[in-house]
Amino acid sequence: MNEARGNIYCIGRNYAQHAAELGNAVPEKPMVFMKPTHALLPMDGGTAVLPAGRGEIHYEAELVLRVGRAYEKGMTVDELVDRFAIGLDLTLRDVQSELKSKGHPWLEAKGFRNSAPLGPFRPYPGTEAFRETAFRLEKNGETVQRGTAAEMIFSPQQLVDYVAAQYGLGEGDLIFTGTPAGVGGLADGDRLELFWGTESAGCLTISMK
Ligand code: ZN
Repeated sequence: MNEARGNIYCIGRNYAQHAAELGNAVPEKPMVFMKPTHALLPMDGGTAVLPAGRGEIHYEAELVLRVGRAYEKGMTVDELVDRFAIGLDLTLRDVQSELKSKGHPWLEAKGFRNSAPLGPFRPYPGTEAFRETAFRLEKNGETVQRGTAAEMIFSPQQLVDYVAAQYGLGEGDLIFTGTPAGVGGLADGDRLELFWGTESAGCLTISMK
C-alpha cells in the first residue's frame, strides 16, 4: 500500500437503515467526502493504532471500489472498476457530531491516520455478481454488520457517474461506498475481521493510544 495511490472518495448515508440508525435523512444525491491517503492501512492481521481520549471511534464496514482507468462519459462500472476490497471507514463519532452541529467539515472525524483500514484487493466480478454476495464484519468473533451492494441507495454505477462528473475519476482512485446498519464503538484490543461471503477479507487488532 506504499505505491502511489489516488483519491479516496467516501460516500455517506448510502444504506437506508444506517441513515436511520444515526437519525439522518436519506440523501437525494450521493453525499461525498474524502480521506487523506495517509488514512490507509492494510488489514493484514496487524494492529491499527487509533487516537485515544477523543470520544467514541466507530467502525463502518464498506465495499471499496478501485478505479482501473481514466473515466470517460458513458463507461459502465464494469469497464471502469478493475478491483474491489472491503474496508473500514473509522469515525470519531463524538467529534463528528460536534462538527455536524457547527456545520464544519468532517475531516477531523474521518481523516485521521489509520482511519481507512483496507483488506486485500480482489478482481471486480462484474456488478451482477457483486450485488449477490454479502459482506460482513465480525468484532471479537460476533457478526456486527452485514450488507450487500444490492441494498445501496445509490448503485455503483450511479456513484461512479456522480463522482466522475463532480470531481473526476482516474486510475487508482478508491470509492468507499457507504456502510450498512450496525455501526458501533471500538475498544483497545478489539479484533476485527471482514468477510466476503464465507471468505476472510482482512483482519486487524485495535490499539488505542
Ligand atoms: Zn462510511
